[in-house]
Amino acid sequence: MVAALTLSAILATTSYRVAMPDPASHFFNVEVRFEQVKAPLRFAFPAFSPGGWKIDEIAGNVLDLAAVDGGRRILPAVKIDKQTWEIGKPGDGTVVVAYRVYANEKGTAYAARLNTAMAQANLASILGYAPERQRAPGRLAIEPFGDWKVACSLAPAGSQPFTYEAPDFDVLADGIFLAGLFTEVGFDDGGARYRLAFSRAPDFKDRKVGDDVRKIVREAAAVFGETPYDRYLFLYVLEAEGGHGGIEHLYGASMCAPLESFEEREAYRKFLGLTSHEFVHAWNVKRMRPAGLGPFDFTKESPTHNLYVAEGFTSYYGNLVATRGGATTREEYFKSLAEGLVTDRGNPGIRAKSLEAHSWDWWLPSDIPYLTYRTNYTRGSLVALVLDLEIRSATGGNRSLDDVMRSLYGRTGKRASGYTDAELREALVTAGAPGMDARLDAMVTRPGTLDAAAALALVGVEAVPDPASPAVPFFGWRTSSAGKDFPALDWIEPGSPAAAAGLQDRDLIVALDDRRLSAERLDKELALLQPGTPVGVSFFRDGTLRKVELIPGAPVPPKLIVRPRADATPEQKSRLEAWLGARSAATTP
Ligand SMILES: [Zn+2]
Repeated sequence: MVAALTLSAILATTSYRVAMPDPASHFFNVEVRFEQVKAPLRFAFPAFSPGGWKIDEIAGNVLDLAAVDGGRRILPAVKIDKQTWEIGKPGDGTVVVAYRVYANEKGTAYAARLNTAMAQANLASILGYAPERQRAPGRLAIEPFGDWKVACSLAPAGSQPFTYEAPDFDVLADGIFLAGLFTEVGFDDGGARYRLAFSRAPDFKDRKVGDDVRKIVREAAAVFGETPYDRYLFLYVLEAEGGHGGIEHLYGASMCAPLESFEEREAYRKFLGLTSHEFVHAWNVKRMRPAGLGPFDFTKESPTHNLYVAEGFTSYYGNLVATRGGATTREEYFKSLAEGLVTDRGNPGIRAKSLEAHSWDWWLPSDIPYLTYRTNYTRGSLVALVLDLEIRSATGGNRSLDDVMRSLYGRTGKRASGYTDAELREALVTAGAPGMDARLDAMVTRPGTLDAAAALALVGVEAVPDPASPAVPFFGWRTSSAGKDFPALDWIEPGSPAAAAGLQDRDLIVALDDRRLSAERLDKELALLQPGTPVGVSFFRDGTLRKVELIPGAPVPPKLIVRPRADATPEQKSRLEAWLGARSAATTP
């Protein structure tokens, strides 16, 4: 710690200037100024943006990179690999690197965008750095277009407008900003200032957005036991058509949501769910994080076993704290849980490799159609559910996963290195219940199914088939076609009836026996079939019509209902209250 402080004290501040004089071009103009440079300087772009866990090669969006010294004399700038330039040694100790970087993301808020209406950036997506000065303090001046204003998650530097500072490049690159004529809602709570900035003026209808977010804020803080920041920026890019996603940051979250998020209740529930998920990350991953996820080596991947904790446990707590605080209802919580159970049951990826392997390989693109990083969210949240309910049951309601999270956060949330696999298991045992380390191992170190129903029974809750969507025989394929189109197969589950019949992904299914199929009628047609009775499946493969015989498997309900059992015992009912009831009233002064 002392050594790190001394090091940053001797490194001169790196100064950044981000301008946007021509928004329609989608290019930010960036200038980076280094002082006390006594040797050739390497200048690089991050290979990834934290939170995305994929290599996205920001350098590919950069044009016109050039360097000068303090007297504006040109310095040689030679590209030495895909993301790094070597800048010649300056005569006067100053290097100014200038470049243009393209920003035109749509539908998500993972990277950056600049257009005639707004600018938004996760700074790791537009800022370069000198690897040997990664620990040097940084200063950022944003020059908004015209009369635009700026909301930025970084700490303001002095009294100059739109100027910010950070102790090192990791914190600077973690910053987010929104520029434009945006709408803002704010509140103070627990000693921190919260800003909600919306890229365009939303019609909130009768939604109390600030109040609902405050409920989420209080319940999340109650889980972890403290508020680890003095400011937090909820940055929303609102899209006219679709859009959903977000990336967590130390002092904020960058999110993309549909403009109509405040109309139908279900759309608003999704908006609150996204907000809540990203907010829980302020503890789980931004501060309490798996070893390897910061401080970063921005040149390459940084795999970990524990992204199912980083994302899945965050999904679990995101929904939980929204319901505990009353921003969403228990019925909505159970509905989302039911959807999660159906998604998990239909995911062959989790039967192909372990959850720890899904985490480790997140960075690795795969052509195997049913392997998806989303498994870390869907299965990971169910692992958290099982651990939570089992700990509550094993300790007679004295402990819960909340205690485990608070303990792990308390021990590792403020240190530079993240928690290890062993520390995670130790917290489950010491702050949770005996044997929980082995329970975790059973669920994450090998592929397989997970019995969430048994865990739900501990709190008197059941998952039953939804009578409104009758069970259909199991085929083991997935299609994503819609409307009157023929269903095209996205993937075939290994070992399924569809696999046994010799069907392949990309086959275009046109008929079952002699009945024409359409995507919108698929479930209805499948429901007419008898398990065990062969059906002729006609399909086009590579332009040729073919037919195979398929034997439908045992029926599965397409939808589930999760609900409290009418015959739950008083003890189960009180555990249910302890699990889903508000905590913040008891813990917030
Ligand atoms: Zn997340």
